[in-house]
Amino acid sequence: MTISINAAFDSGNIVVESLAGTSARLSIRKDRESDFFQWFHFRVACAAGDALDLAITGLADSAYPDGWPGYAACASYDREHWFRLDTSYDAGTLTIRHTAEGPLLWIAYFAPYSMERHHDLIASAAECEGVAYRCLGTSLEGQPIDCLEMGEGPVQVWLYARQHPGESMAEWWMEGALDMLTDPADPHGRSLRRKCRFHIVPNMNPDGSRRGHLRTNHAGVNLNREWHAPSAERSPEVLCVRNAMDESGVDWAMDVHGDEAIPAVFLAGFEGIPSLKPEQQEKFLAFQAALAAATPDFQTELGYESSAPGQANLSMSTTQLAERHGAVSMTIEMPFKDNRDLPDPVQGWSPDRSKLLARACLETLDRML
Ligand code: ZN
Repeated sequence: MTISINAAFDSGNIVVESLAGTSARLSIRKDRESDFFQWFHFRVACAAGDALDLAITGLADSAYPDGWPGYAACASYDREHWFRLDTSYDAGTLTIRHTAEGPLLWIAYFAPYSMERHHDLIASAAECEGVAYRCLGTSLEGQPIDCLEMGEGPVQVWLYARQHPGESMAEWWMEGALDMLTDPADPHGRSLRRKCRFHIVPNMNPDGSRRGHLRTNHAGVNLNREWHAPSAERSPEVLCVRNAMDESGVDWAMDVHGDEAIPAVFLAGFEGIPSLKPEQQEKFLAFQAALAAATPDFQTELGYESSAPGQANLSMSTTQLAERHGAVSMTIEMPFKDNRDLPDPVQGWSPDRSKLLARACLETLDRML
């Protein structure tokens, strides 16, 4: 019997080029109105014992070809527990081999975070004592841009994720952050709510998330290149969040992402902004050092190159908020691969590690304030 493959569901993305027995040749659909592609998520219907041999082709032209060497695909039978598959990469083709243990196997670039789970997250957090829900606006396809607010302190903290929708680890991070901040028993949560007002946007790009995009919204726009001039036509998701930030002011901000190529957790800052203040940069560096001391999952050796003085790209949120509000703002990047320094061959970087990293980030912020 020939296997069948389907991706017609929330965040599904795969094109079946050909099927033969337990083998398939596949490719990835580009983000709508864009050339970006890298995210995949599909279901294989098979029989237990099938020797699956799946080739995802055409990846030399993907958004981040360096993301494939050393990468292993994620899979799940129950859509709760995700593990890594035997995966190899050669000349633009990713080959996944696995002996099926059941009739249905889900395979994805990283453990997905569905829009239904997003609504579950918003619903459970919004019910918690002291949490206010705000809808900041709507996406191009009319989905809400959800924001949760909590805390009584004067320090304005913005946490936001999934500008790049394929970086699903970013919303797992958010789940960890919200678990901590809404737990009445958590000492850091209590302390932070006393010091800060939190504004939390767990998903900046619901349209791209549902469509199975890597990097863009419904109009093919990369939201993290719109912050200097967001518009209702191209990037209402950024416009509504930036307007709310202008109302509250921003003291600290974290923009949560995943990186395709680098096998490590790292931060990117704002050192190239025109108005850089020494104390602003010192706070960023102190946070970075404190986070490295707080969790062995974080490091400072691997990361992006710093931009030269005055050469920051102000279309990105981190630099725009640092320039616009004098904020200590940062981009946190988690790996799609694994953490090179602390590898886990079974799960690689995972939802649980993303959630724990959020806790470490918030504990660090609490110590800094
Ligand atoms: Zn990103």
